[in-house]
Order: sequence, then structure tokens, then C-alpha cells
Amino acid sequence: MVRFNNQFPRMLKQGELESFHLGSGLQERFHFKLMVRFNIQFPRMLIQGEVSLQADEDNSTDMKRFNRVSTDPPKVKDPGDDDVSRAPEIKCGLNTLQLMGVLVACLMGLFSVSVILRDLPAYGLWVGAEARVLQVKPTKEEDDSSQPVEVPKDKLLGGLLAAGFDERSCLSRYQSVLYGKALIREPSSYLISRLRRYEALHKRCGPFTGSYNKTVELLKSGQQIGPSDCNYLVWLSCSGLGNKILTLASAFLYALLTNRVLLVDRGADMTNLLCEPFPEVSWLIPIDFPLTSQFGGFNRKSVHSYGNMLKNNSSQISVSPFLYLHLVHDYTNLDKLFFCDQDQTSIQQVPWLIMKSNNYFIPSLFLIPSFEEELRNLFPEMETVFHFLGRYLFHPTNQAWGLITRYYQAYLAKADEKIGIQIRVFEKGNAPYHQHILDQILACTLKENLLPEINPKKHIITPPGKNNSKAVLLTSLNSEYSDKLRDMYWEHPTVTGEIIGVSQPSHEGYQKFGNHMQNVKAWSEMYLLSLTDKLVTSSLSTFGYVAQGLGGLKPWILVKPVNETAPDPPCQRAISMEPCFHAPPFYDCKNKRGTDTGLLVPHVRHCEDVSLGLKLVDREN
Ligand code: GDP
Repeated sequence: MVRFNNQFPRMLKQGELESFHLGSGLQERFHFKLMVRFNIQFPRMLIQGEVSLQADEDNSTDMKRFNRVSTDPPKVKDPGDDDVSRAPEIKCGLNTLQLMGVLVACLMGLFSVSVILRDLPAYGLWVGAEARVLQVKPTKEEDDSSQPVEVPKDKLLGGLLAAGFDERSCLSRYQSVLYGKALIREPSSYLISRLRRYEALHKRCGPFTGSYNKTVELLKSGQQIGPSDCNYLVWLSCSGLGNKILTLASAFLYALLTNRVLLVDRGADMTNLLCEPFPEVSWLIPIDFPLTSQFGGFNRKSVHSYGNMLKNNSSQISVSPFLYLHLVHDYTNLDKLFFCDQDQTSIQQVPWLIMKSNNYFIPSLFLIPSFEEELRNLFPEMETVFHFLGRYLFHPTNQAWGLITRYYQAYLAKADEKIGIQIRVFEKGNAPYHQHILDQILACTLKENLLPEINPKKHIITPPGKNNSKAVLLTSLNSEYSDKLRDMYWEHPTVTGEIIGVSQPSHEGYQKFGNHMQNVKAWSEMYLLSLTDKLVTSSLSTFGYVAQGLGGLKPWILVKPVNETAPDPPCQRAISMEPCFHAPPFYDCKNKRGTDTGLLVPHVRHCEDVSLGLKLVDREN
């Protein structure tokens, strides 16, 4: 038994173990997650909490989060009340006894941590006054105190980042500038002040605060409520990691524009990839959020979707407790009215918005007149939107940062120039090797002077010591492209005498949905590509968009081949570093008719790689 304040805790008798969920993330043989929610009653205090255990091959456990709500009356709930039904069935598990052992060990660990942390406020522990919430951060995974912390000078990226995070819990947040990547422009002072304001809002209204609890209670009651002082946008994940990152940035900007608090679906495995971006209060939606069990079922047919509400029940929209915004590529024309000013007015009345998207929809936000001025003040240079939002929001966890920095130091750091090449072939099954794609890459990199030609007739061009070096970082699901490129530059000298090294971090074969390690590698590779000096990307790929946006790079985009031949020209320079919105609406909201939204304003244009897509460009472009 563990003592706490010299008193023995008493386990609640009935319903104290509120719910007990097993599952999630069991795609790999030795990987499982265990989630436990519990109440423990101390003489003057109730501890409520969630414990997420994650066991990998080494069976390491990971305490994620723990909340203490003092003096609140103990809540006793039916274990069936809370549903984490989206967690897949456990496929390789522990027997009940083992499971209980893990649970007991975990609870004991929890008490010890609570005792230790009580005395260590600077160690990532804080109390939200409003709700008397105590959260423990960082997680075990994030807190790597053995790491020496090298803190660069402009660690706050010109004020874009907030000060005051525990640096060890997320080393990448303040270390990214050490890897040659300061911001490419200065963020506007208005953007900086709005981000600080957002952080204050998030702290006031985020998970477990009094306002949050109150709004959730209203949501549960199903009453007609209208907007409250805290309104929310819940982001649901969809598609691959690149899509997820782009839509999360889009959702955040929409939340910023509409003074909503952004909350993130836990089912998306983003927790192990990204650090918490906002100080003090988490952006993860609590496990017992009442709509969690419906998340997986939301689609364009949902009765609560904005499109269907317009069709069937439009008078109810402004009094609905929540609304589902379906902004996935298959959205209906009615769903697309989300991008109209008059619709925004009624959507604003709803306290809870649940959004699912796989698109970078920011370009169309720039076409909504009521957002125009605010967006201009936030981003006087339009093509920096994702660059700033991405560098503000997306900080690799220490695990991903380890992969990134080790790779960078081993293969990229010493080169005079770093060239990124991202190859994405959209075909089912194992990613194939195509000779015409390698031909296209060679044609592009030679034509654009990114890489030198080889001289097949000579063995040596320049003596040692004088050679410039270029490191090529190639990412692909298939390893043959980099093998062949590396052999070519190994077997022959270059006509310029430059030394070319080619490396590829992983070759996963095919896209594995829900595979944690592939996601970590994919995220690390996107980030590594962003650290290069010049970048070649594949058409249509959100993986490449993330890299170019974070790095502030205008890539050379490989033109999509037709009939399996290398196109001519093989690639074209992007008009801006912004990602492309692949499936925008083509509708003139004012005149209620179809229109080409790529022709309305000079800063929203059609994309180079998707002719119907939209992207932001700077005005002078
Ligand atoms: P998109 O499909 O190219 O738009 O990019 P997404 O990131 O949305 O989805 C592709 C997914 O496939 C990635 O998230 C990875 O899981 C995987 N993938 C594709 N290309 C690569 C690659 O070069 N490296 C790694 N590690 N994974 C990749």
C-alpha cells in the first residue's frame, strides 16, 4: 500500500474503477495499449484519472495523464457509460491476472509520481485555478532528462513560440534552429499576439477546466444552448500523416479565426508524434468526451453533418448542441457551403463543431469575406501561412526528434549542400520501382542544376580536398531509386568534381495504416526533407507539402508521368511553398452560382500539380 500525505487512500467500493478499456494499436505483435480510468477517494480529495499504458517489445510502460479534482463529490458511473469503441479489439494480450497485475502496478506508480510531483511544480506540473485541475506533464516518453539541452539564441523563432515549456519534455521545440532552419520570414506582430491570445483561451477553456466541464454537461443534456463563452472545434483525423498534419493546421487556423478551442481526437496516434503545442493545458480531447463513440461513424451521410442539417432541419442548426463538418474530399455541395459567409454566421452559433477533413482547406478560408481582413493582418505574406502555423504547432516528440537528429548528423550535416528528393508513387500494394521515374528525377535534377552530370569516361576528376559535397536525402517507400542513384555517383565521378552522397532513411514497401513506427519514420522523413536546402517533390503528395511548408522551400515538383514515360519538362518550380487544397468548392456564395474560385483574387491560384486545386501565393507572384 502507498501512503499519501501520511494517510492511506481508500479505493471506492462501487464503480470506482470507472471503466477499463483494452485495445488500440494492436497492429504489431508486441505492441499494445491499456487504458484505465479510475476514481480513488482520499479523506479530503478525489483522484480521478486516466492511465494509458503502452507496452512495446521492452514492455515499457508509459503514464500519460492524471487529473486530481479536489473536493468534488465522487462520481460513480456505469462502466458502460464511457465508450472508446473505436479502439480495435486486442489481438495479442495478457490474461486477466497479468492484466490486474499491470493495473495495480500502474496505480501504485501513479501514487508515487503524484507524491513526487507534489513537491516539484517546476517539473511540468500546474494547477488550473478555475477547475482545480492538476495535470502531470511531461509523459515518460517526452521527459528525457538525460539529454543535454542545447538552447539556441532565437529559440522562440522571433516570438512565434511561447516561452515557459519544459525544454526537456520536447527538445525539438527550441532546438529546430540548430539545424539550419530559422523561419524564412518574420512572423507579424499581430500573428504573435493572436497566438498568445489563443493560448490564454485554451488555458481558460481547455480540457478539464470549469468552462469545459460545464459545456460538456450541456452537450450531454442535449439542450438547445447556443454559443457559450467557450466554444470548441474538435478535429478528427483522416487519411495519411501528411493529410492529417495539413488538416490540423487548417483546423487550428479556423479555430483562431472563430475564437474556438481546438481539441484533437486521440484515436489518431498523433500523441506519439507531436508534442503538445499549447502551454499548460492539453489539446487532446478527454477520453470521456460524450461524442467519442460517434467519431468513427461520422461521414457525409451523418444526420448531424452540416449538409444534411441544411437539407432536413436547417432551422435547428443555430440551436444544435453540436454540428459535424464533413470537409473530406467526397463532401456534398451543401457541405461545401461551410465556405460561405452567411453559413459561417449560423455555424458560429453552435458551441461544438466536430470536423473531419483530409484537405488543406486554408486557401478557401481566404475567400470568405468576413475573414479577409483578419487573415491579411495575421499573414501579410500569404505564402507563409503553413510555414508559420506548422512551425508553431508541429514539434516532433523526443522519439521522433531522436530519429531526425541522429540521421541528420550521420548523413546530412557535413555536406556543403543538402538536396531532398521525395518520391511518391500512387499505386496499390507494394510501391513499385519505375525506370521512367528515375529517368525523370535525373532529367529534373540535371536540368535545374540541382545535381551534376557524371563523366562515364574518366575515373578521377579532381584531387581530394577540393571537392564540394552534396548530400541527397531521398525518401520513398521503395529502395531502388536511391540504390541506383547512389551507385551511379559511386561508380562514376561528376563532371564538376563534386562528391555526391545518396541516402534513404527507410523503405517501408507500402503504406501501413495505423502503424506507429511507420508514422514516426514518415514524420521524421518529412521533417528531414524540410531541413534540406533544395527540394524535389512528387505531384499530389501531402507528404511533400508538409516538408516544403515546414522548410520554407519552393520545391521543384515532378510532373505526373503519362503513359509511363518521363514527361518533358520533367519538373516545374512551385509558385509558392504553400500546400495545395486538392478539392476546393467552385461556388460564388454571393451570386449563388458556380465559379472558378482560382480566378477571384490574386493570392489564391490554381496549383501546379492539381489543376482544380487552390493554393496561396504572395501577391507579387
Ligand atoms: P500522401 O499520400 O503522399 O499525400 O502522404 P500521406 O503522408 O498523407 O500518406 C502516405 C503515407 O504512406 C505516409 O504517411 C507514410 O505512412 C507512408 N509513406 C509514403 N511515402 C513514404 C516515405 O517516403 N517514407 C515513409 N517512411 N513513409 C511513407
